[in-house]
Order: sequence, then C-alpha cells, then structure tokens
Amino acid sequence: MTDWNAMSDQAFRQEVRRFYAEHFPAHLRAVIGYLTWAQQQDWYRKLYERGWAAPSWPREHGGMGLDTNKLLIFVDERLDAARGPEFGGIVMLGPVLMKFGSPAQQAYYLPRILSGEDRWAQGYSEPGAGSDLAGLRTEAVLDGDHFVVNGQKIWTTWGLDCTHAFVLVRTDKSVKKQAGISFLLIDLGSHGVTVRGIRNIAGQQDFCEMFFDNVRVPKDNLVGGLNQGWTVSKALVGHERLLIGNPQHCQLALDRLAAVARVQGLFDDAGFIDRFAQLALDVEDLGATYARFCDLARRGAAIGADVSMLKIWATETLQRINEQIVEAAGDLGATEGLIAFGDRAVDVLHPFYISRPTTIGAGTSEIQRNIMAKFVLELPG
Ligand SMILES: Cc1cc2nc3c(=O)[nH]c(=O)nc-3n(C[C@H](O)[C@H](O)[C@H](O)COP(=O)(O)OP(=O)(O)OC[C@H]3O[C@@H](n4cnc5c(N)ncnc54)[C@H](O)[C@@H]3O)c2cc1C
Repeated sequence: MTDWNAMSDQAFRQEVRRFYAEHFPAHLRAVIGYLTWAQQQDWYRKLYERGWAAPSWPREHGGMGLDTNKLLIFVDERLDAARGPEFGGIVMLGPVLMKFGSPAQQAYYLPRILSGEDRWAQGYSEPGAGSDLAGLRTEAVLDGDHFVVNGQKIWTTWGLDCTHAFVLVRTDKSVKKQAGISFLLIDLGSHGVTVRGIRNIAGQQDFCEMFFDNVRVPKDNLVGGLNQGWTVSKALVGHERLLIGNPQHCQLALDRLAAVARVQGLFDDAGFIDRFAQLALDVEDLGATYARFCDLARRGAAIGADVSMLKIWATETLQRINEQIVEAAGDLGATEGLIAFGDRAVDVLHPFYISRPTTIGAGTSEIQRNIMAKFVLELPG
C-alpha cells in the first residue's frame, strides 16, 4: 500500500492530477453544483477501487490516511469535481462515527459508506428550526429496544438519492434546548418514512422534505449517548466550514467571467475593468485567508470562531462573481443552458442560481456574522 504522506508534495500532486485527467469523465466536468447518484456512481466506483474514496479517513478504515497537507493538495487537484450524495457519509458522518460511534457502529457502517452502498443525508433543519437549530421538534421516544420517531425535516440535500439519514431528534423536553437532543441513524427505507423532493429555482430536486411517522429505530442506532446530539453535531459542523472556504469555486467562476467578458469586449470598458479587478482581488484575499486556516490545520492548531469569516467571504464573493457573469453576458444573461462565447461554452444562469443558497446552507451569513461579533470581536450580545 502506498504511503501517500511519504511522497513529495510535487509527486503526490502529479499523481492525483494524472488520475483525474485519465479517469474523471469529461461530461461531469461541466457540472456546477450537485451531482445525482446516477451521474456520480461510476466515477465514485473508480475512486473506491483506487482506494481514494475517503482521502481523510485513516487507513485502518479504508481511507487514504492523508495528513492535512496532502489532503489540501488532494482537494485542490479535484478542481471541478462536483459533490455527489456520497458526501454526507464520507465527509460528515464517517469522521463523526470514528469519534463518537461504538465499535459495532464503526464496523457495520464505515465499509458501507466507503463502498457507496449506504449514502447518508443530513437531517437537521426543520420548518421551524434552521438557524435556531436547537429549537428542533422531531421527537424520539424510547419504547423497549427502539426509539419511535415522529416529526419533519426539511432542506435535506440528496434526500431522494440517499439510503439513510443522520438525524437530530429531541429526546428530552424537560431540560435546556441543547441538552435534550440526540443523534440518531435512520434507514430511510424504514416503515413510516416519506421523502419528498423540493424543486429549486434552478429546476433541480436536490432538496427534500423527510417525514417521520411512528418510525421505529433500533436503540443501537444512537450515536454518542442519549442527549449528546448537540456535542456530536458541533464536531460535524467544524468539518464543513473549512471545506466551504476553498477558493477554487471562485477561481473557476472568475475564469468564466473573464471568458465571457473577453468575447463581449468588456476589457475595453474601464468600469468593467474596475469591477473585475476588485473581484480578482477578493479572490486573492480569499485564497490568502484559506491558506492561513490551512496552515493552522496543518500544524494541528485549533480552528477558532474566526473561520466564519472564510465562509462569509467565499460564498459572498462567489455570488458577486456570478452576478457579474450574468451582467457581462448582456442579452444572453437570462438564457438557460450552455452558451457559446467564442470557443468556450459557459452556463451563465445555473451557477448564478446555485450560488444564492451558499450564503444560507451550513449557517447563514447573518449567523456567521453573529458568531464573529460574539466570539471574535467580543461585542456585547
Ligand atoms: C444549499 C443548502 C443545503 C442545505 N442542506 C441541508 C441538509 O442537507 N440538511 C439540513 O438539515 N439542512 C440543510 N440546509 C438547511 C440550512 O441549514 C438552513 O437553511 C439554514 O440553517 C437556515 O435556516 P432556515 O432556512 O430555517 O432560515 P431561518 O433560520 O428561518 O433564517 C431566515 C433569515 O433570518 C436570518 N436570521 C435567523 N436568525 C438570525 C439571528 N439570530 N440574527 C440575525 N439574522 C438571523 C437568517 O440569516 C436568514 O436570513 C441546507 C440549506 C441550503 C441553502
């Protein structure tokens, strides 16, 4: 088995680049946003067979065992590879099970996540509990060896493509909100589960609603102990935030803007040049901020609350660039699908649509600013 961490950075980068160049299907390169399992599964199988499905997982669990430095190179080299429904299991639940799961849960679920057989959705948000997640009301009541779950989740990404969901449920109503929440693993094929798609503005059904009607979930599916769900879920959010800050999406969007602007003759327009320069500098700033957090992560230092800045900057910059692409496309700005700008085919509208929710998912910009105000600037609440 190759020890990737022992390779030089350059050799490792080349190895990853070569594999992607040879095997990553051309038609998936054009996808911006989420992939369905039908689109993703052949490519995922190739990664799995190569032993590259879970770059950050330790080798004993079938991962590549990459250290932080090599992991950052790996993520960088994926460039235009969009996420598919394996994401929840590989990036979110897997690390949580390694930290909080029982040996039996690890032995059963981790190999099935790795192979893509089980795909996991994140069942946190509810119609009345998004930013105020601790207010969630989906309830799990113990009945012998099972929990009986009733309630509704919403905005579940890939809900229709996933086989399971890790769900936050209320298991004690008599204590402080955060102290009465548990983390449950639910098979979406269980009796009483209904998953319905929600069509988004881009016409896709990435989002779902999940309804639980007297769903019986084995007690053994509890992760991290009764009423420990808040602690478990916080560990998981930490993983998400650093990944969102990778500047590659903004760099690719800036590249699309430049391609459109060139053909539209906008580099002769001083106003546009000003706006383009500002965006290019914003992306540079993002890259520098990301590099700083990566550096901390590489050294094993704690990532503080100021990482919220990275999420705000990455997502709001992406929106600004995509707005400019629509502007730059002129009359074609409202046309759906790929549009030819010289020898480049650019989708103008879809990235604009799908960059809108990036400032909402994984904690809205307002909530990130609240975090910064409270924990970084220490402003009075
Ligand atoms: C792309 C995407 C993917 C998602 N995937 C999932 C998923 O897989 N699983 C899942 O469980 N959830 C998912 N979500 C849901 C997401 O977590 C919630 O949308 C988010 O937490 C916001 O909650 P909400 O939509 O209920 O909005 P609300 O919390 O109702 O907020 C509405 C508005 O009020 C503002 N606001 C709320 N509270 C405050 C405050 N205290 N101070 C200032 N402003 C405030 C918000 O910023 C926002 O602008 C996803 C969302 C998106 C956009």
